[in-house]
Amino acid sequence: MNTNSSNENLKRIKNKELLNRTLELRMNEKKFTLMLLNHLAEIEHRRLYAELGFSSLYEYCLNTLSYSESEAALRVQASRLLNENRNVVEEKISNGDLSLSQASALQTFFSMEEKEHDRKFNFTEKEKLVEQISRKNIRDTREQLNQMRTEPKKNATINIKIDAETMKKLNELRGKLGSRKDDLELIAWLISDKLKKLEQDVQKTIAKEEEKNKLTQNCNYLNNHEDKIKSHSRYINPKLRKLLLFRASGRCEFISKITGRRCEETRNLHIDHVNPYALSQDNSIENLRVYCSSHNAFSALRTYGHHVMDKYINSKIAINNQYTRITSRRMRF
Ligand SMILES: [Zn+2]
Repeated sequence: MNTNSSNENLKRIKNKELLNRTLELRMNEKKFTLMLLNHLAEIEHRRLYAELGFSSLYEYCLNTLSYSESEAALRVQASRLLNENRNVVEEKISNGDLSLSQASALQTFFSMEEKEHDRKFNFTEKEKLVEQISRKNIRDTREQLNQMRTEPKKNATINIKIDAETMKKLNELRGKLGSRKDDLELIAWLISDKLKKLEQDVQKTIAKEEEKNKLTQNCNYLNNHEDKIKSHSRYINPKLRKLLLFRASGRCEFISKITGRRCEETRNLHIDHVNPYALSQDNSIENLRVYCSSHNAFSALRTYGHHVMDKYINSKIAINNQYTRITSRRMRF
C-alpha cells in the first residue's frame, strides 16, 4: 500500500468512518498480537530458535524479528503465560482485558517467585491472579504484584579471618615483592595472579599436546584410564572437559545448518555427544562437542523426540537465561 495515497484517502473520508476504521484496526491488532504470541509459544515448544543458531527465543526475537530488547522480553514472557494458562489468557488478551505488559509482568512474577523462593502457583491460583489484574493499568498491576512478592531473604555476611601464620606470610610476600599494596589489594592481586597462571598452564598444556599431535590419543587415554568403571559410562573426564572447552573457545559450538550462525552462548555449557552416547557409547573427542543448555536440549529433542524428552526438558531453561544474564557467572575452565 502506498502511504501517500493512503493518507490522501484518509483525508477524504468522513469523521465517523475514520473512527470506525481505527476501531477495526485496533481489533485486528489484538487478533494479530494473540496470533503472534501463539506462534512464539509453538516456536519455543519446538525449539526452532535453537535450529537457527540462537540460544533462546528471546535472542531469536531480537535478531530475526528485529524487536528491541524490551519488546522481545514482553512478547517472550507473554507467550509463555499464554502457553501455560491458555483458557483464560487467550480470552483476556483477545478482548483487551490483559495487555502485553501485564501478561509479561505476571509471568515474570511467577518465574521470580518460583526461582527465588520455590513458590509454585497451580493453574487455579494463576487464573485467579489473571482475573484480579484484568482491566487494571500496568502501574496498578505492578503495584499489586509487588505487594504479593515474598519477602527477600536477608543477605548473609561472611567474616573472613586470617590466622597469624597466614598474615605473617602475607607480610613476608609484600616485603619480598617490595609491594606497597594493602592487605586487601595484595589478596586481590594474588587471586588475579593465580588465575592468570592457571590460564597460562592450561594453554601450555594445549600447545604441548597439539605439537605432539597426541591430542586425540591423550583424550582417549584419559577417558580409558583413571577409573575403569567411569570409562564405560557417559562420564567425561575433567581434563578432557577442559580441553574440549578450550577447543570451543569457551563458547557453544552449535552452527545452524539453515543460517550458518554459530551460537554465541558462553554460559551453562555442556559436553554433548555428536552421535548420542546411548546409541554409540562413544566418548572419543571426535564424538564430543560443547553445547549450551538450549542446544544440548535441542540435540536430545532431535534424537529422542518430544514424547521422550518433554518429561525431562524444562522449557524454562533457555529463556530464563536472559533474565539472569547479569548475575550468571561465566563458565570457568
Ligand atoms: Zn548454543
